[in-house]
Amino acid sequence: MDWNADLAMYQEALHAEQIGVARWDLKTDRVYGDATMKALFPDHLTSGSYSDFLLRCPEIHPDDVTLFKALVFFVQTPHHEYADKSHEIIIDFRLSDEERRQQWFHAHFIVHFEKEWPKDVVILLRSTDSEHRHDEALRQKAERDALTGLYNKEQVRERIDAVLSASGTAKALLVLDMDGFKQVNDNLGHLFGDAVISDMALSLAEVFAPEDIIGRVGGDEFVVLMQDAENLSAVTARCEKLRNMLRRSFHYGDGQTLNVSGSVGIALSPEYGASFETLFSCADKALYEAKRLGRDMQVFYTDELREGKKKHVEENSIVEGRQALLDHPVEFIFRMLYETKNPSVTIQTLLALFAKYFMVQRVVIYQNQGGTWICWFEWHAEGVLSPAEAHEGVVTDFINQNYRKEIYGYFSECTDTSKVGGEMGKTLVERNIFALLHAGVMDGDKRIACVGFEDCRAPRIWTKQEHEILRTFADILGTFLMDQMRYGMVRRGYRRLQGILDAMAEHVWVVAADNGNIAYMNKSTRTLIAATGSNEEKNCYKVRTDSNRSCARCEYADLHASCPAALRLQAEAERHNLEPVSVPWTDELNGQLYLGGYASPQS
Ligand code: GH3
Ligand code: MG
Repeated sequence: MDWNADLAMYQEALHAEQIGVARWDLKTDRVYGDATMKALFPDHLTSGSYSDFLLRCPEIHPDDVTLFKALVFFVQTPHHEYADKSHEIIIDFRLSDEERRQQWFHAHFIVHFEKEWPKDVVILLRSTDSEHRHDEALRQKAERDALTGLYNKEQVRERIDAVLSASGTAKALLVLDMDGFKQVNDNLGHLFGDAVISDMALSLAEVFAPEDIIGRVGGDEFVVLMQDAENLSAVTARCEKLRNMLRRSFHYGDGQTLNVSGSVGIALSPEYGASFETLFSCADKALYEAKRLGRDMQVFYTDELREGKKKHVEENSIVEGRQALLDHPVEFIFRMLYETKNPSVTIQTLLALFAKYFMVQRVVIYQNQGGTWICWFEWHAEGVLSPAEAHEGVVTDFINQNYRKEIYGYFSECTDTSKVGGEMGKTLVERNIFALLHAGVMDGDKRIACVGFEDCRAPRIWTKQEHEILRTFADILGTFLMDQMRYGMVRRGYRRLQGILDAMAEHVWVVAADNGNIAYMNKSTRTLIAATGSNEEKNCYKVRTDSNRSCARCEYADLHASCPAALRLQAEAERHNLEPVSVPWTDELNGQLYLGGYASPQS
């Protein structure tokens, strides 16, 4: 047999397969390679110590370094079990080239032993980069949505679950859906629709951080897990930015236009769950709420959404987005703030709603903490200075100096700051505050906070409606602020019920169950009594008619049964174990329906 001919044949075959062959002499720690090895890995054939090379080679991927450390350790220690035999070690590893591109390799290290000591190693090395790339492409194909290249629903679920189970820090799961996307398909064609979806995916990738997990879970529906959701204003800001990018008008046919936008539902973790499934279901409910309230907005999932369908039906009859806010501001704001366990989220949502409905670019709540005005909550449109930046220095002074009592309460109002003049006027215009309306949150004569709308685009006349809404919000907020100061933000109870009743324009009071005496009257009722000049202890019919006879029956009894405020009070009273006291009545002063009360059994 001609061994040399055989060897030549093997070498040829190995060369054809692009397999480099080398021998590592462990006695001298030197390595000798064939032509393919030389061509493929010229650096490998170092003239120095090969173990040193393997341990120090900077091109080996950091995750693969330990494999080579183990190999070097293996060949430098005795192994009785392999005495006078050979043992094969296979290593798949990555090297990076000059342009920091990774390349995959597959190596066989066949270690020959002399007695128990490794003597030499035959190395077979080949590049497996193209195979890896192929596998990666297949994996990507299985994991990725074909149209957008984002993760598909399965992948996004798996990845988000993995992150949630590994970390307990605050995260936010967002579910996003295009508004009015069907019209795009219907009027501009499916292909154009596809382009809009791809574009949406690009916007998502641009707005969110690289570590956030983004996936497409349906036609025009996407999911994002924000890994850093400590700061709710930052979460809101991201959503605002995204929505600004998604808001588009398309023109087609002869002069027709269609508008698309995006709605977002947000569920916070760990508050509302630590798995994809639960968070997704919460965020989806919040998304539904965003759609219901008029689309093009983000809504945080809160406890009140948790309560499900029955409540939704009830709310539906009370609230229809903007109209509800305008028609029943007390009811609307009260509903949002009163039942939530997370007032911060709700206040933030309300600010965004106000901004949207009244087209203001900045909404802010300042709190007076021992003479210092602290920015407590803020919302500002993209490209507009934050209130903290805009109000710094003279602007807060201007707002403070201009506070005066107006028909709806204390306001600081300016319809056109370019008319203010002087340094002050200049500063206001410079900071893009063209018109402002700030309502004082009062505790008696003390202004404990203020709530403000600002127009950063142009001067404007503030309408009666805007005054009223801001006043209502400031009043209701006042009760929250006072509660927060006195009892802490989440404390609920009778005290808060009183505070909120005080913020309502309606006359509401609580009557003791046993004797019919008034246990509590809200502010409107107290003012009414003051106006009628009687302030001694009274029962309800005395308050209304100054009569000593109780009402036999109320002509508005039926209305009571469906009055949203009455239903709300009823639910609230039940929760606090208050008992209904049947004292329905009407107010002759302005013909509105006013409610009876509830009393604690002990009172
Ligand atoms: P809404 O504001 O309530 O979200 O209404 P919408 O018009 O956006 O409609 P909806 O989200 O309920 O439906 C999304 C539509 O997206 C339904 C389907 O025809 C379409 N769709 C689903 N997958 C694709 C896709 O891959 N490409 C295109 N072009 N359209 C798709
Ligand atoms: Mg949609």
